[in-house]
Formats: sequence, C-alpha cells, structure tokens
Amino acid sequence: MNERTLLRDNVADIAAYFAAGGWRPLKKALSMGRAAVIAEVTASGLRGRGGAGFPTGRKWSFVPQDAQGPRYLVCNADEGEPGAFKDRELLRRNPQAVLEGMAIAGYAIGASLGYIYIRGEFSAEAEFLTAAITAARAKGFLGANILGSGFDFDIHLHRGAGAYICGEETALLSSIEGLRGQPRLKPPFPAVKGLFGAPTVVNNAETLAAVPSILERGAAWYASTGSPDSPGTKLFCVSGAVNRPGVYELPLGVPFRELLETHCGGMKDGRKLKAVLPGGASSPALTAAEAMAVNMDYASLAAAGSMLGSGAVIVIEEGRCMVELLGVLARFYRHESCGQCAPCREGCAWADKLLAGLEAGRGRPSDVETLRSCAAAMTGRTICPLADSLALPALSFISKFRAEFDAHAAGRTCRAAGGGRLA
Ligand code: SF4
Repeated sequence: MNERTLLRDNVADIAAYFAAGGWRPLKKALSMGRAAVIAEVTASGLRGRGGAGFPTGRKWSFVPQDAQGPRYLVCNADEGEPGAFKDRELLRRNPQAVLEGMAIAGYAIGASLGYIYIRGEFSAEAEFLTAAITAARAKGFLGANILGSGFDFDIHLHRGAGAYICGEETALLSSIEGLRGQPRLKPPFPAVKGLFGAPTVVNNAETLAAVPSILERGAAWYASTGSPDSPGTKLFCVSGAVNRPGVYELPLGVPFRELLETHCGGMKDGRKLKAVLPGGASSPALTAAEAMAVNMDYASLAAAGSMLGSGAVIVIEEGRCMVELLGVLARFYRHESCGQCAPCREGCAWADKLLAGLEAGRGRPSDVETLRSCAAAMTGRTICPLADSLALPALSFISKFRAEFDAHAAGRTCRAAGGGRLA
C-alpha cells in the first residue's frame, strides 16, 4: 500500500473530508454493532502508534461490557518527546479523521464522551481542532443521537501545560482530572479504572485516524498492507542531518535505506551516516550499518535491538559527539522526571551529572562504567517507562560508541575516536 490514508491532501475542511468519503465509516460502524466493530479493528491488526504498539482492538475489548456508569475515550495528542512532530501534522491536515476515529472508538467501547489531550504548545492545532469539532457537531456527526442512531458522543479539547510525562496515559488522565500529572501504578489499567475512576481507553491520535479507513475498506484490506506483524501505514517524522526532514506516511516495513535515500533525499550535504534513533529519543541507537539493513516495523526494529516507538526518526551524522548528544537527552529526562521513583529521579540526575562532567573534560576513567551501571539499574524498576527512556539509549550509546566515552573520560575530545564536538 503506497497510498496515503492519514496525510491525505485537501481534507482539512469538513466539506472536503465528507466529499472524499469521510464520516461514512461511522455510519457503517453504527449499523454493525459494538462487538463487530471491535472484531473488525482487531482483525485488521492495527497497533497503537503512540509508542507501545499494543493491538488496538484488544485494548478496546478490555473495557468491561457490563460496567455501569460512564466510560471515556481519550485521544492522546500530547506528543512531547524530542524528535516527535507527526501528530501535529496529522491534526493540521486531517483533523476530521481523528474525530471520526474517536466517534467510532467511542461507539465500540460504549463511551458517550471523549477528550483530546493536546500538548499545550500546540496553539494553532488546538484552534484547528476546536473549529473541526464545531463543524462536526454542526453536521450531526458529534452530539446527541448521531445520524439518528440513538448514539450520543461528544468531544472536549483539553490543553496540557507542557509536561512531557503527561504523554504517559495514566499521568494524562490525572492531568485531565485536574491533579498533578504523575503516572499511576498499574493495575488497575485504565480500561477498568481510568478517567474519574471509570473505564477508559486512551489511544494515540494517529491510531484513531487509521480507524475510519479500516471500517471503510475492511480488516482484510488493512491486514494485507504494511508488513505481516505491522499492518498499515505509519507517520515517520524524520529530523537530523537529512536533506528533506519532515513527516512521511509510508507502509510499515519500509526499509530505512529507502526512507533516508528516496524520501528524505539522503544525508545533508553529503555527510556520512553515523547512527539513528529509529523510534525517537527513547529508543536504543542503531549504528549506520544496522540502520541501513533494517526495515521500519515493530518486529524488524526489535530484532535489531531497538524499537519503532512513535516513529520519530533521528538521523545522526559522522562528527556528531555521542557523549554530548546523550547529555542532551539526560538533561531532558532529568527535567521531565516526575520524581516518584528513586531509580528514575536519582538515575536521571546522576546520568546528567556524569555526562556533564564528561562533556566538560572533568570526567574520570571510572565514570563511563559508573554511567553504564547507573543506566542498567534504571531499567524495568519504575512506575512508568520514563527511566527506561534514558537508560536504553544510554546503554546503546555506551556499548556502540564506547571509544568516544573513554576519550572524554580521559579528558580528550572524542574526534580522534571518530566523534567530534558539537558545533
Ligand atoms: Fe515518575 Fe520517572 Fe517513576 Fe515515571 S519512572 S513515575 S517519570 S519517577
């Protein structure tokens, strides 16, 4: 499948979206019944696009069918990770697909109210969405008794206040509730006890935008696209040393080499590829050779020792210092840690401190091993994955670019070891 179903041209306006077939999938869903909609999305193989890649239909099926009281559907459009800017593009270019996906998901799980949690800095996108919601209400696609079906569903837009951790689903729910945005222990999972204590599904904006095309063209069609374990298209947002950085909608399983050379126009100014963070700032680094041999899907990237994450591809050129780059990440995660868990709170702080010393030439030879053991102690021991988000890249940087770390620890620039100072 090479066609774009998410970043289609000229569908930002509701009239154009409707003319292109939009909002018919909701009508179809309403005629199918809840269980059939969940079965269709499950059969499509759609997986969450926010980072975890959990099967979407299964997530919807976890909402207890016999639960009394309200249920909620939440669209996560927080997108706070360094290098991630795909949802922003989607919300600008195809907001109606996100709203229609929410309405279908809301119907499937029995929710009559949905929230879009949008990153506070996305002011223009918040305005677009507000206008898009108003337009959808005016056409009868949102609100009471949608299309005469008896199904009620409306959407509230909730703007975040700039905390990265509020992209984590339980912190996001606390933030909507007006509480401090801190991750909660799971279980209970949101599908059972989520927003205001009610069953809640949280889906990424890109995930929800894929749902109308699945209802329109069927699960079998969707499952036949992309790669076997990763159907569909993906929004890859590419940043770094490439000629054409940007957001590209491509089939999952596209070779990284094709993404770089064909779509992004190759390395900037003929520079040489050094490393890639294929799934955003929290993904383990691939060397140039590893990246050029990998396909961009969940299984291939896991087999290569990294992950697809949110599809934020960060391309690093030769000459870029990996010690300083890791220092940038450590400062970010230290700043964004909510502080509940000691391995995260102390680990991010220690990593930042050690890296600052190495960057400044004040390091000691033992600092590299201390940094490595610090990162190893941070993984898998915390309430949410933020600690891993620093630890996993750190472990990969140290193991694959050790000479640069050792050079800094010896008080030298790492140029001699194939690295270089940041300009
Ligand atoms: Fe907070 Fe870090 Fe623990 Fe996540 S891992 S809950 S960000 S302290």
